[in-house]
Amino acid sequence: MNKTLSVALSSLLAMGSIGGMAAEPDEAILAGAWSNEQVQAIAAKTLQVYLPLVPDALTEPERAAAAELLAAGQRLHDVYLRQLHPQALAARDALARHPELVNHAALFRVMNGPIATTLDNDRVPFLGVDPQTPARNVYPPGATRAALDAHFAAHPDSRAALLDSRSIVEAATPDNVRAAIATLDEHPALDLLHPGLRARLTAAVGGYLSVPYSVAYADDILFVYDRLNAAAALLDERDPAFARYLRLRGRDLLADDYDGGDAAWVTGRFSGNLNAQIGSYETYDDALYGVKTFFSLSLLQRDAARSAELAASIGDIQAIEDALPYASDRRVNSDIPVGVYNVMADFGQARGTNTASILPNESHLAQQFGRTILIRANILTEPHLFAGSERAFVAATVDEHRGDLSPEGGLYRTLWHEVGHYLGVNRTRDGRELDVALQDTADLLEEMKADLVSLFAARQLHDRGAFDDARLRAVYADGIRRVLQKTRPRRDQPYQTMQLIQWNWFLDRGLLTADGGRLRIHYERYDEAVSSLLAAVLELQAGGDRGAANQFVERWTRWDESVHGAVARRMRETETTRFTLVRYEALGEKP
Ligand SMILES: [Zn+2]
Repeated sequence: MNKTLSVALSSLLAMGSIGGMAAEPDEAILAGAWSNEQVQAIAAKTLQVYLPLVPDALTEPERAAAAELLAAGQRLHDVYLRQLHPQALAARDALARHPELVNHAALFRVMNGPIATTLDNDRVPFLGVDPQTPARNVYPPGATRAALDAHFAAHPDSRAALLDSRSIVEAATPDNVRAAIATLDEHPALDLLHPGLRARLTAAVGGYLSVPYSVAYADDILFVYDRLNAAAALLDERDPAFARYLRLRGRDLLADDYDGGDAAWVTGRFSGNLNAQIGSYETYDDALYGVKTFFSLSLLQRDAARSAELAASIGDIQAIEDALPYASDRRVNSDIPVGVYNVMADFGQARGTNTASILPNESHLAQQFGRTILIRANILTEPHLFAGSERAFVAATVDEHRGDLSPEGGLYRTLWHEVGHYLGVNRTRDGRELDVALQDTADLLEEMKADLVSLFAARQLHDRGAFDDARLRAVYADGIRRVLQKTRPRRDQPYQTMQLIQWNWFLDRGLLTADGGRLRIHYERYDEAVSSLLAAVLELQAGGDRGAANQFVERWTRWDESVHGAVARRMRETETTRFTLVRYEALGEKP
C-alpha cells in the first residue's frame, strides 16, 4: 500500500464522518439478525476479489488528488446506501459497534445494505430492519405506483418535477417543507442554483414534494464538492483538462444538472493518469418508475501501455470500416473517447465487477458530445473472475479446447466491441434513426453488430500485425464463450437473445458442432461465420424494417434441449459462487 495515499485518505475520512442520521436503537436491529449459519451459507457462495494498486502509476500530486477523490467516493457510497434503504446507515453503524458480528458486516458489504438476496433468490432483511419496498428510500415510505399515478392524473403539472431523475419524492408535510427550506436558507448556493425551487416548496400543500438530491443530501454533496475542488487544485498544472472537469462536476452536483461536467468529461483530453466517473447516472435501482438515478464514483488509473496500443490501432479504423461486409462510403472519426484503465476503487452503484463504463446516457448529451468509454482492464483480467469463465468454457467445449481462453482474449474482445459501436450502419438506408425504425429490436441488433465487428476487426488487426496468433485465437475463443448461455434467454433480454442468435448461426455455419453434449470449435470456419452474420445484421439495420428484424430474431432463437440444454446444464454445474465481494488496496484493505 502506498503510504501517502492511505495516510491522506484516513485523515479525510475522519473529516467526513457521518452525522445527522437519527440513531436507531441497536437492540432492535441486532435482535432481528440472522444466525451465523444463515450468514455462512451466503458467505460460502461469495467470490472474494481483491484489486491491488498498480505500483508507481501515479505522480505525487495525483496520489494526493486520488486521496481526495476516494474520500468523495466513500461519502457518495453512504448516500447510495441511504438511497436504497431508510435504515441502511443505522444498520451499518450498529454493526460497527458490534465487532463480534464481523460476518454480518461482510454480508452487509456484499449486499450493499441490510437486505440479502437468498440462495432461493428472495430479498429479505438479515438484520432487524423493515423489508425492502419498491419505493426504496427515494419515494415516501410505502409509496405505490397506483397512489402516485392517481396523483399525476389529478395534478398532471406535478409529474415532470416528481419524476426528475435527480430528486427524491417526499410527502408534502409541513415538517418536510420546513426542512427543505431550512436547507436553502443554510446554503444560499443551493437556493441560487435551483431557480423556482423555494417558491415550489412554499406552495406545496398536500400530496408530494420533489426535493433535489443536492438539497436532500446537502451535507454530503457539499463535502464532495469540497473534495473535487481540492483534487482539481492539485492537478491544475499537470492535468488541466481533468482539473476543469472536476470543478465543473462539483458545480453539477450542487445544481443536479450534469451537462457542463459531462461535456468536459467526454471531450476533454486528459494528460495525466487519473479518470473518474462521479455522480448519479444509472436508474437500475429504482423499482417504482425506473427514473431515479443512484450515486456512484469510480476512481480509475490509466493503463498507459494498453491505452497507447489502442490509440495506435484505432488509427486504422477507417480500413476496418471499409472492409465491413456492406456497401457504404462512410467516413469514420478515429478520435473516439475510449481509454483502458485499472479500477482503483468503485463506490455506490458502481461497486462490483463492471467491465466497461459508457456514459452519459441522456441522448441530448450523447448527440452533442458523444459518450466516453472506460475499459476496466484489471476487472477483465482478474484471475478469479477469469477462472469462473474458464470453468464454464471448459465444461461447454471438448477437451481439445482447454487452454484456448485467456484473460487477454476477453480484454481485447470487449475493447473492440466498444469500438465496434462506432462502425457500420448508423442510420437506415432512407435516413431514419435506428432506434426510431427498429424500436425494441434496435438495441439487440446494435449489440450483436458490436460483438461481430469486434471479431471481424480481430482478423484485420491480426493481418496487419497488431494482434499475434495467440491473441487472435484468444479473442476468437472468447467470442465463443460469450455466446454460450447457462439458461434459455427470454425475448426481453436483448444481450442474451443476440448471443443465442450467434450461437445458432455458428452451429448452422459449422463453426460449432455438437459433440456428445459438448461443443467443438472449427476455427477455420470462423471468418466466414462472422462475416456472413455481420452482413445479415448490417442489412437488417440498413433496411430499418422492424417486422423483418423480428422475423430474423424469431428464426434464429430456437433452443434444442439436447444441444443447448445439455451445454447449459454442464456450464451451470461449474458455478461455485453467486455473489462477489470486492476489496481494494486503494482503500487500505488487505487481500
Ligand atoms: Zn455494447
